[in-house]
Amino acid sequence: MRRTCEVAIVGSGFAGSLLARVLAVLGYDVLLLERGTHPRLAIGESTTPLANLSLERLAVRYGLPDCHRLATHGRWLAHLPELRRGLKRGFTFYRHHPGERFAERGLDSERLLVAASPDDALSDTHWLRADVDHHFVREAEAAGVEYLDRTELTAADFGGATARLRGHRDGVALDVEAGFVIDASGPGGFLARQLAIPSGLERTHTRAALVYGHFDDVRLMRDEVPSLPAGPYPQDWAAVHHLIDEGWMYSLRFDHGTTSAGFLLTPHGLASLGGATEAEPSRLWRVLLERYPTIGRLFDDARPMMPIGSVPRVQHRLTRATGTRWVLMPHAFAFVDPLVSTGIAWGVRAVERLALAFEDAVDGTRRPDVDTLERYDAALCAEGDQIDLVVAGAYEALAHFDLFAAQAMLYFATVSYAETSQRIGDAEGAAWKGFLGVGDEALGPAPRESFARLREITRGAGLSGTTHERAAFAEWIAATIAPRNVAGLADPMRHNMYPVDLDVLVERHALLGMSRERLLAALPALRGLGPEPTFVERPWRMRAEAPT
Ligand SMILES: Cc1cc2nc3c(=O)[nH]c(=O)nc-3n(C[C@H](O)[C@H](O)[C@H](O)COP(=O)(O)OP(=O)(O)OC[C@H]3O[C@@H](n4cnc5c(N)ncnc54)[C@H](O)[C@@H]3O)c2cc1C
Repeated sequence: MRRTCEVAIVGSGFAGSLLARVLAVLGYDVLLLERGTHPRLAIGESTTPLANLSLERLAVRYGLPDCHRLATHGRWLAHLPELRRGLKRGFTFYRHHPGERFAERGLDSERLLVAASPDDALSDTHWLRADVDHHFVREAEAAGVEYLDRTELTAADFGGATARLRGHRDGVALDVEAGFVIDASGPGGFLARQLAIPSGLERTHTRAALVYGHFDDVRLMRDEVPSLPAGPYPQDWAAVHHLIDEGWMYSLRFDHGTTSAGFLLTPHGLASLGGATEAEPSRLWRVLLERYPTIGRLFDDARPMMPIGSVPRVQHRLTRATGTRWVLMPHAFAFVDPLVSTGIAWGVRAVERLALAFEDAVDGTRRPDVDTLERYDAALCAEGDQIDLVVAGAYEALAHFDLFAAQAMLYFATVSYAETSQRIGDAEGAAWKGFLGVGDEALGPAPRESFARLREITRGAGLSGTTHERAAFAEWIAATIAPRNVAGLADPMRHNMYPVDLDVLVERHALLGMSRERLLAALPALRGLGPEPTFVERPWRMRAEAPT
């Protein structure tokens, strides 16, 4: 089997298949190569406003109506109900302690709720990746991408005027000649091995093992601790985080009843679990549910939909993201931790960036230029570091819930400011804007300093610090985020419960460099209530085919 193409994309998760489709729309000849088959199980399911903003921009720019519909729960249900998803109204955190039931202390409970949307219709979603990734592959094929699944690639050669990929499919040798190669094959990916790209994992402070599964019949916290005061949204319809001494657990509920759940465990936490290791995931799962009675109750009647899986260390990181004729998608380059759901947003942002790079090359070299690739490489390196610092700080802050709640404000201030300014700013600028505050003079340096301050408080040994130290840290966070705090965060009067508060936003219009009147005029767009965009399907291909 021989194939010649302009762009070969290795890996057909949402990142590979969405980019393949956009490039086909731009008029490129694209080959999408997948080792497995769809539908297939994948974890990494919870989206964020920034991920959905990227999807909306891609939808409008390249004429992809389904991407616009997948960007809110309401539109998704109305147009694509056959694709399974979950309602994600925000980020919910509970702190549990070994051997104790979750302590209901009214407004002083160890609970943090941060809304990401004002109502269900505009809500973010959890993607059932089996359905969503399959959808993106089908759409890529419909746009003209040639898709080859069950394809095992064994060699890559970038020495000539074109790239050569070799492998086999169903026992038949495959030889691909491509102008450019995009690696979207995820952790330990294809080019990392073929090009022996050195690991940069020593840069990553976060260390965690994973034990995970999909379950039916997981109970709701609402039913287990019914007396908790109501929050700004239904607390279970969120990315639910159960914080524990050994790390934390995510729990993402899909609308059809299945829950995706997993424990992220620090090396110290794992070591403290009485000999249970990630090599025996079912036993480790049981030990953790027994240790934390309220989490245990939630899973009392739960039925695993798959054998419980494990990964000894989820973090990975390479030293380079680009080279001559090749580029890595973020998940092939680095992964830190699911704590603040950065993966999908980072991946879709990269689709936008690379799409723009190929757009610029449509009438020229038909591949991204060297400067753009260097820019992309620098962005991914800096953003990988930034995600790590935010998350490593949060792990350090597990020592005390007050520290954790304060550290979390750094993340929420950064993303709420980015979301608001992107909704009112220009699309092209948004794609290349630094992720998680990279390049922002107020917030850019904050995660590194915050991590250092937290390590001082915890002495790097999990100590919870004094009341004074914790209060001083919370004050420092509040002062640090103040120039970007458009969401009214870090406010003790809120008792760790933050709705989407447009009054605060209007009041703080100056932080966005806008007059009150201009901000009021922009409110419908900020609330996602603008008119449905018009989608010009395949504008680029038509342009490329139009007589000059
Ligand atoms: C425990 C955990 C929880 C997470 N939770 C979240 C979350 O809540 N929110 C969030 O935003 N992100 C989350 N993430 C991150 C998220 O999983 C990734 O960002 C996302 O999966 C990246 O998608 P992708 O399409 O780039 O790659 P992948 O989903 O990794 O897809 C890669 C594809 O490439 C194929 N492939 C692999 N090797 C080859 C090869 N050699 N040849 C051909 N094909 C190949 C694979 O079969 C697969 O189909 C989580 C990650 C983990 C580990």
